[in-house]
Amino acid sequence: MIRVEKLKKSYGKKEVLKEVSTVINDGEVVVVIGPSGSGKSTFLRCLNRLEEINEGKIFYNDIEITDKDVDIDKLRQKIGMVFQHFNLFPHKTIIENITLAPINTGIMNKEEAQKTALELLGKMGLSEKADVYPASLSGGQKQRVAIARALAMKPEVMLFDEATSALDPEMVGEVLSVMKDLAKEGMTMVVVTHEMGFAKEVSDRVLFMEEGIIYEEGSPEDIFSNPKEIRTKEFLSKVL
Ligand code: ADP
Ligand code: MG
Repeated sequence: MIRVEKLKKSYGKKEVLKEVSTVINDGEVVVVIGPSGSGKSTFLRCLNRLEEINEGKIFYNDIEITDKDVDIDKLRQKIGMVFQHFNLFPHKTIIENITLAPINTGIMNKEEAQKTALELLGKMGLSEKADVYPASLSGGQKQRVAIARALAMKPEVMLFDEATSALDPEMVGEVLSVMKDLAKEGMTMVVVTHEMGFAKEVSDRVLFMEEGIIYEEGSPEDIFSNPKEIRTKEFLSKVL
């Protein structure tokens, strides 16, 4: 579904992604782990073109999305993203937050968008929150709304960048559980996380990144029980 070929990205002189190549298959859950500053967020942002890349190519369903002529709005509609900080609009209600993009981009009329939003809120266990403002929600609830908002665009792929890192510990589980449900439904997901339990339990493949390189990738069993690279072993010894 996504093919990354020799991707390079620098900020000024600093090479942040050195030559990243990988494939994300349809329906796969790929977890990206690695130390802070290794390029994980930059990698995710390149996948939906929130970053301009320096070299290499990214294909989405065999269309080169790093091509200048690609319709970025259309691409972002297919590739939803959830961030560490939820970025909900504070002056809009929960349902307004969720229906805004589908209505503004014209993929749904207001009625369809509201129906979709209510279904998604139901799935997130937040049906009764449709008409409240974000400030009245807990962090875990806000993040579930942010996930619902991304899903409202009917994406084919979801990118999660440390979606639980800003949450109080007691709220991490409720967000991971929503992510697990999505994975079970067959959503293609690329998940940057420090939650190794989630990686072990849910992922089909784990990428270990360090210094802008995918040092090692494999099944969760391979990476967690039998890592080959010394850097992977060192990283895991610190986080497990
Ligand atoms: P990670 O998500 O793995 O912590 P990032 O992709 O955020 O890593 O960052 C990788 C490196 O790129 C870091 O050294 C970071 O300081 C640098 N970096 C990230 N974004 C920018 C930016 N907009 N401008 C300059 N440097 C950046
Ligand atoms: Mg990051």
